Amino acid sequence: MAELTTEVVIAGAGPTGLMLANELALAGVDTSVLERMHERTGLSKALNLQPRTAEVLDLRGLLGRAQDRSFATVADGHFAVIPVSYAGWNTRHPYQLGIPQAEVEAALEERLAEQGVKVRRGHELTSVTQNATGVTVEAGDLLIRAKYLVGCDGGRSTVRKALKMPFEGIEGQGHGVAADVLFARTPPGAPTQWRSMADMVTSGSPGKFIGVIPLAEPNLYRITFGDRLNRPRNLRAEVTPDEVAKAVTERFGPEAKIAEIRWASRFSDDSRLAQNYRVGRIFLAGDAAHTHFPAGGQGLNMGIQDAMNLGWKLAATLHNQAPTTLLDTYEQERRPVAKQVLDNIAAQNALIPTTPNQLALRALFRDLTEIPEVQHHLSGLISGLNIKYETQDPHPAAGTRLPDIKTPKATQAPYSTKETGSY
Ligand SMILES: Cc1cc2nc3c(=O)[nH]c(=O)nc-3n(C[C@H](O)[C@H](O)[C@H](O)COP(=O)(O)OP(=O)(O)OC[C@H]3O[C@@H](n4cnc5c(N)ncnc54)[C@H](O)[C@@H]3O)c2cc1C
Repeated sequence: MAELTTEVVIAGAGPTGLMLANELALAGVDTSVLERMHERTGLSKALNLQPRTAEVLDLRGLLGRAQDRSFATVADGHFAVIPVSYAGWNTRHPYQLGIPQAEVEAALEERLAEQGVKVRRGHELTSVTQNATGVTVEAGDLLIRAKYLVGCDGGRSTVRKALKMPFEGIEGQGHGVAADVLFARTPPGAPTQWRSMADMVTSGSPGKFIGVIPLAEPNLYRITFGDRLNRPRNLRAEVTPDEVAKAVTERFGPEAKIAEIRWASRFSDDSRLAQNYRVGRIFLAGDAAHTHFPAGGQGLNMGIQDAMNLGWKLAATLHNQAPTTLLDTYEQERRPVAKQVLDNIAAQNALIPTTPNQLALRALFRDLTEIPEVQHHLSGLISGLNIKYETQDPHPAAGTRLPDIKTPKATQAPYSTKETGSY
């Protein structure tokens, strides 16, 4: 077995692991990224970057790359499929960027390679141990010793399981299916561009929903459908073409002709949060720390922001520029953010009506969203712009995000900003 020594090992090269690796590489930290898949699947679960993620990528000169790979700029977000505007927030990026998850990963991996770090594909982390001075990880033919390990290995995280970390939350009763479907011609009444969340999702019989988002290619659509009240016995069962065809016919009628189903996958409406994000020298980030129903488009975004929070802290600690207690602030800051997201998703789920009373409640809630302050509150929740970390400092701005201030004369940026020129 080959042996390797490094400073940080990252398990998983999804968006969270890749963002974290970029942050560490930028700070000159020796990092190894392990990925069990031999190649990227191209399977694009997430389709958006929220305003706060756009800000974070802009800080690192990465937004331009994401924009180059995007297919839409969407004027609003949504809460329980009710469009909410980002307009009231002081940000340069009051929109969702429509970009497939695979393209986000490709952009991050490209930048990582430019920084001299290559993802070790086909290396599945299978075991981990730690002591006071470091961690030891086994992955295929590799034995790696490092100072820290970060589990960015997704919802079924091996790292989280190895830590025996409780992962509790709400057991849902429903499920959804996401599929990228190419039609022979544009289905009747289907939008051809994704500009707003209005009318993107409709509901049929109680608890059922179907969403339609036009993608980059003509006649290619993300079809998302499901049932909030029922789930198949086996949530990992393959999605059948008939299931997709049935949902498509319900939405567009029999004239809609499917030419190809590019991929399809099931997801549950369970919500879970790791009890801790840190155990000694091992951390959890992204879906390894929190999973939930993809309402509002928040999961990938939260993972990238977890990575941004943890990256500089690990680097500062490893460079002896900060005490190791700084690392505790990662969980203190980021876990409440995930808790808030899980809570807002539970609220969104409750607003998908399954009874006449809930239908009335949803109608009333929709009316309330016309109030600008309510819009502002809801868009703050899903965009990540309302972030407020708890601090001891009584100043109202303490712990909030630094508003987007343009200085008259830019001073030296802490990191390279050559792509956007902003920081
Ligand atoms: C249908 C659907 C739609 C979604 N839409 C959105 C959306 O619009 N917006 C949004 O923000 N979020 C969305 N999400 C959520 C988003 O996809 C996830 O939050 C995101 O993928 C999390 O990224 P991650 O890097 O933490 O984990 P993952 O993307 O799961 O990546 C984990 C990586 O780790 C690797 N791995 C796993 N185990 C090991 C191991 N033992 N060793 C080495 N490697 C390992 C995996 O192969 C994988 O590459 C959606 C999710 C679904 C299911």
